[in-house]
Amino acid sequence: MVELKALSAATGCRILAKAEYLNPGGSPKDRVARALIEDALARNPGVRRVYEGTSGSTGISLARVAAAAGLEAVIFMPSDQAVEKAQLLATLGARVQRVPPVAIVDPGHYVRRAQTAAENDPDGVFADQFETPVNWKAHYTTTGPEIWRQTSGKVDAVVMAAGTGGTLAGVTTYLKEVSDEHVQAYLVDPQGSALYYAVTKGVCYSPTQDEGRRKRNQVDTIAEGIGLYRRTANFDQALDAGIAGAFKCSDQEALDMSRFLLHREGLFLGSSSAVNCVGAAKLAARLGPGHTIVTLLCDDGSRHLTKLWNEDFLTAQGLVACISPDCYASVYG
Ligand code: PMP
Repeated sequence: MVELKALSAATGCRILAKAEYLNPGGSPKDRVARALIEDALARNPGVRRVYEGTSGSTGISLARVAAAAGLEAVIFMPSDQAVEKAQLLATLGARVQRVPPVAIVDPGHYVRRAQTAAENDPDGVFADQFETPVNWKAHYTTTGPEIWRQTSGKVDAVVMAAGTGGTLAGVTTYLKEVSDEHVQAYLVDPQGSALYYAVTKGVCYSPTQDEGRRKRNQVDTIAEGIGLYRRTANFDQALDAGIAGAFKCSDQEALDMSRFLLHREGLFLGSSSAVNCVGAAKLAARLGPGHTIVTLLCDDGSRHLTKLWNEDFLTAQGLVACISPDCYASVYG
């Protein structure tokens, strides 16, 4: 857990972040991967291969934990995710297939491809991170208690984006229980995602989403690993535990925050970490000064060199990377 001193000074709240990018597999997904592999072995002791659909982080953690358990990881990921994650997966010895991004209703969707491949392999299991409670329980038993212990229980609120929703669900469920409902949990959602509306209106539909992308269920953002167009069992667990509110985060805000974190905090991070910190700044503005807010730094910038940290890519998206202190205005909400 680190204190984001510049962001705290700018917002008037104490903003703490769990440095999950320092885990051996480089993201919070190490926690989930270990639990998924233990679950797979418990369900099927003869298993040889574990299959998963992932934007990258879960695959990278699974590949390492699978190797340690003597298993092979077979990973399906959407082809629009940063190529360095696929390269890393292949280097780690996983079998990787990059598939075109399509809607979950399409059998070619990366999660459905992983499920079908597992069903056709007598020695394979589908890890199923989006739907299995094993995911959020891994955070309920580790991330949540660590936040409580590392803050000595002095935490007012947590805020984070959701991919599967496992982190938000596990952390929220634990902190609500241990604090007797004192800790409030908030979602921050990247542009184009509909989870914001799942929290604020109870529907998973975004009125601002372009019709074509909506039909294809595509989330239109440079942020990776977060934002969704459907409600998963893990996200529903977070809603059941109680989410107090939600914030939107545009790609430009995330981009500005990523540069703020580098230039002011010395932290070189990926897009979901930037989105999380935009959430922390917006939550600080809503709660007012003096509160303690916890978020997560999920992965580091080296997994995003071809996208978030690539000027040509950003220009093609119509985004402008911040070079002067004035452009940090959006960071402060
Ligand atoms: N950040 C990154 C980089 C991720 O890969 C993910 C998960 N796909 C998340 C954040 C969100 O975590 P969760 O799946 O627990 O919602």
